[in-house]
Amino acid sequence: MIIAVDGPTASGKGTISKALAAHFGLPFMDTGMLYRAVGRQVALNGGDADNAADALAACDFSDSLLDNPVLRDEATGGLASRVSIHPQVRAALNKRQVDFANQPSGAVLDGRDIGTVIAPHADAKLFVTATAEVRAQRRFDEMISRGLDVDYENILADIRARDKRDSERADAPLKPADDAMLLDTSDMDAKEAVQAAIALVEACVDSTL
Ligand code: C5P
Repeated sequence: MIIAVDGPTASGKGTISKALAAHFGLPFMDTGMLYRAVGRQVALNGGDADNAADALAACDFSDSLLDNPVLRDEATGGLASRVSIHPQVRAALNKRQVDFANQPSGAVLDGRDIGTVIAPHADAKLFVTATAEVRAQRRFDEMISRGLDVDYENILADIRARDKRDSERADAPLKPADDAMLLDTSDMDAKEAVQAAIALVEACVDSTL
């Protein structure tokens, strides 16, 4: 079984995807980490994330970079969003994701274009959303709990900018697949969101048996 999970930043899709992978016994790929690695590598190379050639050159990052916690930073997320606009970068990262999706065991992948581009044949597709304000609050709470000095309004502005860039890019924009199931987690805690996601996937898979 292939499960595709897409949605904007801080929608809860990461938590949901990991829980789905554990529940159904499937391997999991967080595809945002690939774009984050490219964004980080551009910075390490002294390149410009908005320059297609610089971004493409950064696609040969070392796999060890994927384990570096720096990839989780907001700054790296912003760089990831900028490099992900370039079609050359998306093409360079495509095979790795498609191969992961199509392995014999099945898989769960989360990202922006899993249901539309990487695995349009997925057995279940979820599009996870929440309002920008709720997502900013979640990010704010998480950063405060890590002892960081952050400003809610700045986080909200960053989230809106990232949503706009991800949704308006020409190549593989963030959007639900026509056959995706929408899950709005604005009024749910993590446990409720996971339960709702499992129920949606089970219902979807049952209906195709
Ligand atoms: O999901 P995450 O926030 O880690 O993704 C970082 C950025 O990588 C996103 O803002 C998006 O621009 C890009 N991305 C993408 N396609 C994916 C996954 C992530 O364009 N499948």
